[in-house]
Amino acid sequence: MTSPAPIDCDLHPVVPGIAALLPYLDDHWRETVIRRGIDDLTTIAYPTRNPLSFKQEWRDASGRTGTDVTTLGRQALDPFGTQLAICNCLYGVQAQYSEDLGAAFARALNDWIVKEWLDKDSRLRASIVVPMQNTEMAVDEINRCAADRRFVQVMLLVGSDVTLGRRQNWPIYAAAERHGLPIGIHAGSMYRHPMTPVGWPTTFTEEYVNQATAFQSQLTSLIAEGVFAKFPDLTVVLMESGVTWLPAYLWRLTKFWKGLRSEIPWVSDPPSSIVRDRVRLTLQPFDAPPDASSVMRLIDHIGSDEMLLFSTDYPHYQFDGDSPIPEGLDKALAQKIMAENPLKTYARLKEREIVP
Ligand code: ZN
Repeated sequence: MTSPAPIDCDLHPVVPGIAALLPYLDDHWRETVIRRGIDDLTTIAYPTRNPLSFKQEWRDASGRTGTDVTTLGRQALDPFGTQLAICNCLYGVQAQYSEDLGAAFARALNDWIVKEWLDKDSRLRASIVVPMQNTEMAVDEINRCAADRRFVQVMLLVGSDVTLGRRQNWPIYAAAERHGLPIGIHAGSMYRHPMTPVGWPTTFTEEYVNQATAFQSQLTSLIAEGVFAKFPDLTVVLMESGVTWLPAYLWRLTKFWKGLRSEIPWVSDPPSSIVRDRVRLTLQPFDAPPDASSVMRLIDHIGSDEMLLFSTDYPHYQFDGDSPIPEGLDKALAQKIMAENPLKTYARLKEREIVP
């Protein structure tokens, strides 16, 4: 293992079941969940109850893993000597059609993360889950959680209702920037639209591969609508997006910006330099060929050694197991990815003596 100890910028505590969240709901929503027989928020997800989401050998009797802080520490932190890890909790909160239900469960999920995870392992940090159904409610949740400095990021899903660059989302970016929090866009969806632009896929393979095109669409939206110009201190992190699409995408975007920039005069810098300065990507699942020369050529094409952030994506099936750092990275670059780049990206990670 290289030193310094790695900082894991994307891993996933798993909600063991909706009962775990009941103590964190207020009386009205707790009663609603029981009376309506709501037994799981993730069932709306596509594909339903997909069995590939958890690594096979890690599953417990319920078919899950990572449902408690001890297991997560043993399986995801200890093997790599991880010093800090950012929890991104995915539980279908954003897919609910009720804004109030989404807001109630975002609150419950964030409070659950604090009490059951952050308070129990000092290596853990978290992203703020927000109800993407309603911008005002999302901003309220950011303001409520940001006082706890162990929240280091605001998490959105790449599959949104409207493109993320649209002005109705800007109050979220203003709040994040004000609190010094990057916006982390993770794979996943509100399921208002198919992940492809040409219709609903039928397999997880299609769904997952097409997430990369959704990331491209969101990045183009953020740039073209002027989010990076409006919020000069905002960083955007793409999580579980893959990375190999980036060089060709930047070439295409920058080429057409040169011809069409009169349409978007607020985009004064080439998109390629905006992305290199303001956008970061988590590493896993890494989608490059497994040989050293291909990996280093990819980094060369990206044009920056500061964009990649170490992640395991625990406990997802796509996780590369015991070797989350790709073969063939030179040692200096691997060290930047493991700790230096994460520390530059997340200002709050430098605050080691955090008193909750
Ligand atoms: Zn992930």
